[in-house]
Amino acid sequence: MPFLSFGLHADLVRGVADLGFTQPSPIQKDAIPAGIAGRDVLACSATGSGKTAAFGLPILHRLIGKTRGVTRALIVTPTRELAAQIDEHLKELGRHTQIRSAAVYGGVGMGAQRQAFERGVDIIIATPGRLLDHLSYKYAKLNTVEMLVLDEADRMLDMGFLPDIRRILQLLPEKKQTLFFSATLPSQIGSLTRELLKNPLTINVERQAKPAAGITQTVYPVPHSLKSALLLKLVQGGNMTNALVFTRTKRRADRVADFLKKNGVSSTRIHGDRTQAQRTQALDGFKRGRYQVLVATDVAARGIDIDALSHVINFDLPGTSEDYIHRVGRTARAEAKGDALTFVAPDEERDLKAIERAVSCAIQRVILPDFDYKSVDTANSMGGGGGGGGTYGGHSGNRNQRPSGNRPQRRDDRHTTRSESREGGPPPRASGARPWENRQWKSRTPSVSRRTN
Ligand code: AMP
Repeated sequence: MPFLSFGLHADLVRGVADLGFTQPSPIQKDAIPAGIAGRDVLACSATGSGKTAAFGLPILHRLIGKTRGVTRALIVTPTRELAAQIDEHLKELGRHTQIRSAAVYGGVGMGAQRQAFERGVDIIIATPGRLLDHLSYKYAKLNTVEMLVLDEADRMLDMGFLPDIRRILQLLPEKKQTLFFSATLPSQIGSLTRELLKNPLTINVERQAKPAAGITQTVYPVPHSLKSALLLKLVQGGNMTNALVFTRTKRRADRVADFLKKNGVSSTRIHGDRTQAQRTQALDGFKRGRYQVLVATDVAARGIDIDALSHVINFDLPGTSEDYIHRVGRTARAEAKGDALTFVAPDEERDLKAIERAVSCAIQRVILPDFDYKSVDTANSMGGGGGGGGTYGGHSGNRNQRPSGNRPQRRDDRHTTRSESREGGPPPRASGARPWENRQWKSRTPSVSRRTN
């Protein structure tokens, strides 16, 4: 059991074994020994890399045997979903220990969270805003914190949480171990890490260059006014087990989900204007297969860990190449395979070029032969919204045009095999079954392109 070699407490090794983890992920291999030794860590790693256990196991290990009743570890993370997910994962890893954790995030009542502070729960996992709300009351104190994790720091920066984080840092003891996780390291983060970290072990800090190898990326040129009709066609095509669809705005997420629903596709949506209960219900329903499509904005989808996600669809082009890599990385996790489709309207072509430059490849264009690109009747569609009109398709002899089917010919063989294996393979995971079943990381040197496993 390779996890034994880290010198982890036996109760944690049992917890890890219960989860079916056999090999540490690359980030775990580096971060766990440093974390156990009490060293600061600066790690470039995104959701899906196994980062929760990478920081969670050292924290649990160092807490075992310490007197209880004071909060000794704080994990700050950008979204409610991530906070809940981290809490759940820590509870699983620490199930043979006495260590307790609590998630603290907005959109739900403060009462139970207040009790967690008052009891001095060992680990608090919090989103910045709600944490500061609590910290304005006397019952909430963080002066006993010995370990701090900043999780998805770049996303917290994007979401404007940097001032909140700085306020939180001022309320923590100077002497503490800090584990800093971020998918990318923009310059503002660089200055924060220099202030915060003391002689950190730096892991995998190169910028993520490419999506994982198992992801098949394609681009579907389509005017804005036909995007929803094209989405419907693809979703109804027969081999899309489940799809996470990204839109640029909350409003567009609502409209796309409504459009699909109106056309008989089971779909739901998740974005910042939905209540926590609605978000949880949507995510659970999608994970359990009640909905074929989950439409999301980038921020809301952050940290969503969905096992066996077959397709990611960029309904709107993401703002940056990093967001692109993040989005498409929701599929093909843990060495699996997945498809990432990107719709590109004429006015989005320039931004697509920038993404292609960043991922160092020209993404294959696909024109569906049996889709009416000349259709001007958008009554059935949710219409434009991205500006810029223009048309695609219908060019006879187009070098990208495929003779039949919803997919380029070249990909047919592999795709058919894969969809057949999906249909003929094991049934979707029953609720409560382990998502990591059959999941193994190959032992190999950490590589920047594995961020999305
Ligand atoms: P994370 O990046 O922490 O969100 O983890 C992504 C997924 O990988 C979660 O479902 C974890 O349970 C799973 N996972 C984490 N570590 C391992 C491991 N060593 N082996 C197999 N699965 C793992």
